[in-house]
Amino acid sequence: MKPTGPIPPYFEARDGELAIGGLTASALVKKAGDTPLFVYSKDAIVARMGELREALPEKVRIHYAMKANPYGPLLEMMADLVDGLDIASGGELAQARNAGYLPREISFAGPGKRDDELLTAIRAGVIINLESENEARRALDIGRTLDVAPRLAIRVNPEFELRGSGMKMGGGAKPFGVDADRVPALARELVESGANWRGFHIYSGSQSLDAEAIVESQANVIALSSQLAKDAGVDVPHLNMGGGFGIPYFDKDSRLDLTIIGDGLAEQLVNLPSNLAETDFALELGRYLVGEAGVYLTRIVDRKVSHGTTYLITDGGLHHQLAASGNFGTVVRRNYPIAVANRWDEDAAETVNVVGCLCTPLDRLGDQVLLPMAEIGDLIAVFCAGAYGASASPAEFLGQGPALERLV
Ligand SMILES: *Cc1c(COP(=O)(O)O)cnc(C)c1O
Repeated sequence: MKPTGPIPPYFEARDGELAIGGLTASALVKKAGDTPLFVYSKDAIVARMGELREALPEKVRIHYAMKANPYGPLLEMMADLVDGLDIASGGELAQARNAGYLPREISFAGPGKRDDELLTAIRAGVIINLESENEARRALDIGRTLDVAPRLAIRVNPEFELRGSGMKMGGGAKPFGVDADRVPALARELVESGANWRGFHIYSGSQSLDAEAIVESQANVIALSSQLAKDAGVDVPHLNMGGGFGIPYFDKDSRLDLTIIGDGLAEQLVNLPSNLAETDFALELGRYLVGEAGVYLTRIVDRKVSHGTTYLITDGGLHHQLAASGNFGTVVRRNYPIAVANRWDEDAAETVNVVGCLCTPLDRLGDQVLLPMAEIGDLIAVFCAGAYGASASPAEFLGQGPALERLV
């Protein structure tokens, strides 16, 4: 038997089943019409946002990084909950505008922005987080062509990195952002060119469960932007401090301590360097806002034994949940939280391998997991499916096609 990650605290039992938004897994599947099905819980997202607002200083704005989950109804719901949206492509800009976001609430980061993407964003009035000097000059040219002052910020490639276990100093070569030592000259150039100067974006890492490391990284971000602004002789209207708040996916992962982060940030905000006194601060969070709110439901289509190992073969798999299969940036595969959704209150009875329906040994959802005795037709729930699931998996692989999605 191998351990699984912790089931998020936002779900309850009903009629012996896992229930999401008041409906049992069976009822949700029946209503949607088929499996596999991603279900995202509004209540879980609202609860998570509440916890964040409670812990963080009021002054800190919360942005949603939509690459975590761009599902339309969820994106629309987030518009009422967050203070801004971070996008990373022209496609995301179109989705964001469809979902009702105002261009002035949107900032656009990401390397390799094409001219047409820059043009659309600049014309709309979106903030561009510039990733290079070349991109800066292209954005300025487009501003001149359109006869508007583009709203420009610089994404800084810092010399520090957020690590789950503390801060790794040293920085290094990256395709993201402008190296810190070249930022002052570029900032000056932007201000002198008459751009609408917005400040800095500094993103130092992702998926950290170490609150102290996050606080340390935020202190580094504040110190660095103050120094860069001083060197450049510019002010900092806006500072996007990055995010990096992680969620527990695996056994022994602990929940992020928001109190430590909130208190740390509050202390830094009262002791700000004087050139950041008027700055607006924002955090950009993706998985922390929506990751634990999502459940992937897939049906068992076969149950077989091979050399003494029992396999539960489902109609889902890595084409929808690449991350849970261990093939999305993980070195060693470990089990996401997993359950038999329609046997929620039954005791664990056997150790099984839960696999997907793809003809590849990579397609694993649960490796030697201890579950209640499950039959063909039962529903498997894979948790932590609200971020980097449907949109971050190769849905067309093997002709499978996308899963259904519902916000409840
Ligand atoms: C991916 C990304 C995020 C969101 O990361 P999460 O780990 O989902 O919070 C935020 N900012 C930038 C620049 C990113 O590339």
